[in-house]
Amino acid sequence: VPTGDATENVVPLVDHHAHSVVGDIADRATFERYLTEAAELARGHSSAFDSFLGASLLRYCGPVLGLATTAGPDEYLARRVELGGEESNRRLLRAAGVEHIVVDHGFRAEDLVDVPELAQLAGAAVHQVVRLEHLAEVVAAQGVRPSKFADKFAQRLAEALSGPSAAVGCKSVMAYRHGLDVSPIEPGPGEVRRATEEWLSAARGSPRGTRISHPVLLRHLVWAALRTGAPLQIHTGYGDADLELHRSNPALLTRLIRLAAPLGAPIMLLHCYPYHREAAYLAGVYEHVYFDIGLAINYAGYRATEVLAEAVETAPLHKFLYSSDAFGLAELHLLAAVNFREALAHVLQPLITHDSRSQDEVARLAAMIGSGTARHVYGLPEERRP
Ligand SMILES: [Zn+2]
Repeated sequence: VPTGDATENVVPLVDHHAHSVVGDIADRATFERYLTEAAELARGHSSAFDSFLGASLLRYCGPVLGLATTAGPDEYLARRVELGGEESNRRLLRAAGVEHIVVDHGFRAEDLVDVPELAQLAGAAVHQVVRLEHLAEVVAAQGVRPSKFADKFAQRLAEALSGPSAAVGCKSVMAYRHGLDVSPIEPGPGEVRRATEEWLSAARGSPRGTRISHPVLLRHLVWAALRTGAPLQIHTGYGDADLELHRSNPALLTRLIRLAAPLGAPIMLLHCYPYHREAAYLAGVYEHVYFDIGLAINYAGYRATEVLAEAVETAPLHKFLYSSDAFGLAELHLLAAVNFREALAHVLQPLITHDSRSQDEVARLAAMIGSGTARHVYGLPEERRP
């Protein structure tokens, strides 16, 4: 039976969606900023540590840095500063015991350590996804005529998905830039050209520059990605204050999912919380749809077991994956791994005690959820990189 003990790392994990970590943390306020999706930290009387996430962090990360499980936030931060960012990052990332990490390095990359350094610190193989909106913005910033944009983008996407350091998939943040409530139909060439004209002319003189939020273009990027056949990650559910939550419900993608089925590209619904039951339904009825509960595992702390149980209660188990959605703090990489292993062990245990399945059978299911499905979908090698 898998256990939740951080030191045992019984269940092999592939983290199919995460971000890199910051090199170092200057102070408690900076640290706390990474513990919340809030736009503003509450001042004075409150702390991001006053949460199930905060409690779980101190409980599991403290001992990895040589503290008691009972240490408080100030003690924790003092110890982290004493050890230094690099040593803290190395200890925390290695304790997570994740074999492969698929990172989205297209968001605030300048604040985070680069991909080779993350791999070094974590002792893991690190792969990347192409962030579609970012790539489109790069293409625009380099100068492109509206009539040439679709071809240029397709070419750059194909390049990113090929070669020795090829990305293993794509990612859409359409939920942030507009909402998932778009037309499900692939836009035609004329529609894309007109939308590109609108986008590029609005970009001139705008403080947000070429930031892409035109719904026709966001749809176009999604379809261009689906046409490559590579796994397409789509942000759904919980996110920061740029998001309108009700417009990030993955059920809004139902018609698009149906229309995309013939293309065969796996659609990976990220985060999903609090719509994880909707996501489980979609993964259950559409062969090419997969899902995870991403950052909810971290926010829920010891309650991760209940969230995970809700996610898989009706889902085919080969459609559910592990992701941390850790951003910035190595702590979040570790916590997600610990809480996921523990929650999974609790949720699968009744298959033995109640449903008379064998230990081996349940270990097989745990390995499939923790890593097998991600290896299969993203084509990752079996063995750990030396
Ligand atoms: Zn993310």
